[in-house]
Amino acid sequence: MSRPIRHVVSLSGGKDSAAMAIYLRDRLPELDYVFSDTDKELPETYDYLARIEAFLGKQIIRLRADRGFDHWLQIYGGYLPSPRMRWCTKMLKIRPFEAWVEELGDVDVQMYVGIRADENRGGYKPTKPNITPVYPFIEAGITLDGVHRILEESGVGVPPYYSWRTRSGCFFCFYQRKHEWVGLKENHPDLFELAKQYEKTDQDTGQRYTWSERESLAELEQPARVEEINTKFARQTISVGAKSKALVDILDDSDDDDENLPCSFCHV
Ligand code: SF4
Repeated sequence: MSRPIRHVVSLSGGKDSAAMAIYLRDRLPELDYVFSDTDKELPETYDYLARIEAFLGKQIIRLRADRGFDHWLQIYGGYLPSPRMRWCTKMLKIRPFEAWVEELGDVDVQMYVGIRADENRGGYKPTKPNITPVYPFIEAGITLDGVHRILEESGVGVPPYYSWRTRSGCFFCFYQRKHEWVGLKENHPDLFELAKQYEKTDQDTGQRYTWSERESLAELEQPARVEEINTKFARQTISVGAKSKALVDILDDSDDDDENLPCSFCHV
């Protein structure tokens, strides 16, 4: 006898997974919506989740790891996570999700992931055999324009942080581009300071632990450096001929290689 199926949408706090939840709401009979909360999220993410919840008419299940970021940072020897060492995603996003699935018992889980048809990136690879990722936007050929249409028509819109940052996830996420760090400092100076406090230099070896490659946040926030970053970003937006485009679209169009792309748990 086949096992019961649970249909689950994993929300990251970003626009694509929000659009996915909206798209599927009336297409599938019973859906669970889950969000793995790292406790290091932007306040705007919680606001956005509340907006999505209001549209869906159903509560989003919030999952949390037993131990938080600071615990795992210690376990990983003080090494800040990086694109090559994404222990944070594993410990704070994937593990709580898979533990929740385990609690569901003897079921098969279809997990709906909002990767779009115009993206070239891999999705989440479950470690549990009863979880099957499904990519409805890829199957239906839905691209960035389609996502915007879904969000606009629903009235949910894009996340409020998209005026200065393109990616959902932790406020200190190392996937932020330089000008997004500048945006964090301008929009959440308190969180920028907290992120700074995580950066260290090993007194014995001289090794630096910084969020942003080859540069500490203390260096990045210097006025001359901020000006340089802003000028470079302004030049980039003009060079892609995208003056009238939203920030999120400009950066969505950029050519990140796979290593630079966060997994679908954090940024979709
Ligand atoms: S959002 Fe960034 S820092 Fe947070 S868990 Fe994901 S990859 Fe790690």
